[in-house]
Amino acid sequence: MISVSDGQTHVLAQVTTVTAPELISLGTGLGRVTAEDVRSSTDVPPTDNSAVDGYATEATDIPVGGRRELRVVAELAAGALFEGALGPGEALRIMTGAPMPAGADTVYPQEVVERDGSRVVVPPIAKGANVRRRGEDVRAGAVVLPAGTVLRPQELGVAASLGLSQLLVRQKPRVAILSTGDEVAEPGDERKPGQIYDSNRFALRGLVEASGAVARDHGIVADVYDELRGRLLDAAASADVVLTSGGVSVGDYDLVKAVLQDVGAIDFWQVAMQPGRPIAVGRIGPAHFFGLPGNPVACMLTFHLFVRPAICKLLGRRELFGTPFRAVATQSMRKKIGRREFKRGILTYTGEHWEVGTTGPQGSGILTSMTQANCLILFEEDRGDVAPGETVWVEPFGAV
Ligand code: AMP
Ligand code: MG
Repeated sequence: MISVSDGQTHVLAQVTTVTAPELISLGTGLGRVTAEDVRSSTDVPPTDNSAVDGYATEATDIPVGGRRELRVVAELAAGALFEGALGPGEALRIMTGAPMPAGADTVYPQEVVERDGSRVVVPPIAKGANVRRRGEDVRAGAVVLPAGTVLRPQELGVAASLGLSQLLVRQKPRVAILSTGDEVAEPGDERKPGQIYDSNRFALRGLVEASGAVARDHGIVADVYDELRGRLLDAAASADVVLTSGGVSVGDYDLVKAVLQDVGAIDFWQVAMQPGRPIAVGRIGPAHFFGLPGNPVACMLTFHLFVRPAICKLLGRRELFGTPFRAVATQSMRKKIGRREFKRGILTYTGEHWEVGTTGPQGSGILTSMTQANCLILFEEDRGDVAPGETVWVEPFGAV
């Protein structure tokens, strides 16, 4: 038996490379991972500019508590430039985003002035009010997106604000997925007596894609040595990672294990966790291999704990794991000391704090527990039973 964190350490130690970089256009960048530090060559914004629609002027000679009358010398639209300079007592009609003219340091919002023809009467205002400073968002030369950043909508917007139309990102790792087992039938096909439909391949595909990798579906393989051997070698020939599900529980894991010992290398671990004890980790040729358990919840969970961090590392990501937080248990929960446990939870906000209960029966074959859940409840090894009102760790399901 090894612990979850020792298993994760072993897995990550085997991932010593990152995928090659590729240039992509910004519009297709969502979810990709930067392959280099993105620096700005310019200040953003590029000039001091107005934060409001209003009147730009020099504020220094405004009497405290007083009002004054200014002469409006020109109108400036966003994007237009005022070539001249304002003199004392002069104002420029200015729109949001328009560069500040020479001789002005303050903008009066149009709502606070009284305009009368070419004159405005303005109230007191703080010097510098309503001006956005050149470079206040980004300074020229600054690293704006460090290498290993996942591109969320805001990172795409920031890259665009620097004028970039392309970014260097990590290629998506190629992940081959196979289901093993004579009892596993293809959804849509007729099911023979004793067969169950293959759910793992489809759940894994979603997990793979949500992790920023590209899935390659290699179908179902019967529990036949030569067939498994051929299909695994074929899958490994064009993949960075090969995933199987099934065939690793005590009693019938020898097939996956034996094939891997023949064509690659494999470690078989009993991980001190519930659900999902058995997992096989190794290599076939240059590909990383993960033999995940057949039980659907265990399969998804072991992916989350061991495969996803490996994919994140292949992508050069800075963050490899999610960030759990604390929530109050709404019910008692059974927990065996000495192993890591995971329950499917429903996390809600009461208006004052986060609280969590389980989805009900927690068998590792009860896949609908995953559809009812919006989080995992995490129990540390040394934790025992939980009473209502105690706090537990939760990790919300991400975008998926
Ligand atoms: P195994 O690890 O092969 O002994 O499988 C453990 C359990 O998971 C058995 O009940 C299998 O029927 C089930 N199982 C295996 N593969 C799949 C799959 N692809 N989809 C759904 N259930 C599976
Ligand atoms: Mg099997």
